Amino acid sequence: MSKTIQAVRGMNDFSPNETRLWQWLEQTIRETFAGYGYSEVRSPIIESTHLFKRGVGEATDIVEKEMFTFARDEESLTLRPEGTAGCVRAAIEHGWIYNQEQRLWYIGPMFRYERPQKGRYRQFHQAGVEIFGIANAEADAELILLTARLWEKLGIRQHVKLQLNSIGDLEVRTRYREALVAFLQQHLDVLKQDPDSERRLTTNPLRILDTKHQVLQQVLNDAPKLHDFLDDESKAHFNRLCEILDAMGIAYEINQKLVRGLDYYNKTVFEWVTDALGAQGTVCGGGRYDGLVAQLGGHATEGVGFAMGMERLALLVQEVNPTIALPRAVDIYLVHSGEGADLAAFRLAETIRDALPTLRVMLHTSGGNFKKQFKRADKLGAKIALVLGESEVADNTVVIKDLFGQSEQVTVAQSTLINELSDRFSQE
Ligand code: ATP
Ligand code: MG
Repeated sequence: MSKTIQAVRGMNDFSPNETRLWQWLEQTIRETFAGYGYSEVRSPIIESTHLFKRGVGEATDIVEKEMFTFARDEESLTLRPEGTAGCVRAAIEHGWIYNQEQRLWYIGPMFRYERPQKGRYRQFHQAGVEIFGIANAEADAELILLTARLWEKLGIRQHVKLQLNSIGDLEVRTRYREALVAFLQQHLDVLKQDPDSERRLTTNPLRILDTKHQVLQQVLNDAPKLHDFLDDESKAHFNRLCEILDAMGIAYEINQKLVRGLDYYNKTVFEWVTDALGAQGTVCGGGRYDGLVAQLGGHATEGVGFAMGMERLALLVQEVNPTIALPRAVDIYLVHSGEGADLAAFRLAETIRDALPTLRVMLHTSGGNFKKQFKRADKLGAKIALVLGESEVADNTVVIKDLFGQSEQVTVAQSTLINELSDRFSQE
């Protein structure tokens, strides 16, 4: 026997059971976005490497070490590590955001070369939203309300917390960066214990605030505070956002150490975090990026958006609700045996699908006696088995057997079957 081939490390297959959860997750996400009037956009999974270098930033984890990059026809290409850069690229290229507001969303696979672990993979999926052309805090608030509503629908609202911060404009961050670096230089001994942070002192010092290193975290409690550096406009923007969230009953925690990984943010940044998933606790992150469109060559246009990690959401949904009731794969399993029953069953199955197109109807097609066929129906979790034997075919009847309920099986005329089924399934 030849050696089997396995999936690439950090890249997952989805089983039929998992896709049932994912379809429900995706469907709920789509409905929620649509409920706020957002439109879906789709862009390629491969983009020019320049796009991410310029759009995400050279000094970010993503560009420094996480991209899947390859060359083709002397052009450097990259599997997208996130969705915003491609969305902005497309929006500029096609004029979607030229002098107009847009509320857009996307969903799909992203690729990052990271160490695979629970909640962290090399191919993973994000759903994200971007609002273009709205400068005020109302847009930021809308995104947060939208996500809160989604958590409610997914049954995880009680298990996620909102962290909020303002990181001001570029000038604020430049001045803050100087103060932070000056502070950290007095604590080089501790900084050296955390090589990632030590490296960031010269590349991206604000990211040091993100460190998981406990001693360094302690030291950082005494570091200069970003909010003491904020400009008046950013302050007013942040206050307005907090005011709306207060009025709408959305609780949040202001976390001055929250700066997020990507270079392009300004003013608002936020994350929804959970304690239920261990180290990979951020299920959704976002913020404002008023400079990004211009930075990628477009006409200056404000932006604000977020992306959520679907694997982490799926894990969280299962963690807090292990018995979640997902749609059945099969509602009705049609079993049959005897002379003429096979063709009658084919016809009956098609008739049901014509009349009740939302039901999932499966026809038994692999022979065997009734016992074997019923076993199959049970295994599939069907709610109802329909039975066609020779006598039913002869007198145009069909047997309905409820596979879960207590009710006795009944024989009905085929002409009344559709009504009978629609009654039984409308009560669900
Ligand atoms: P982290 O700090 O966990 O690395 P990040 O700041 O790199 O996250 P973003 O770039 O903001 O993450 O992406 C948004 C969301 O996408 C994250 O909050 C997370 O839920 C999800 N995500 C990011 N990287 C991965 C990954 N490698 N595998 C699975 N989900 C991921
Ligand atoms: Mg990361």
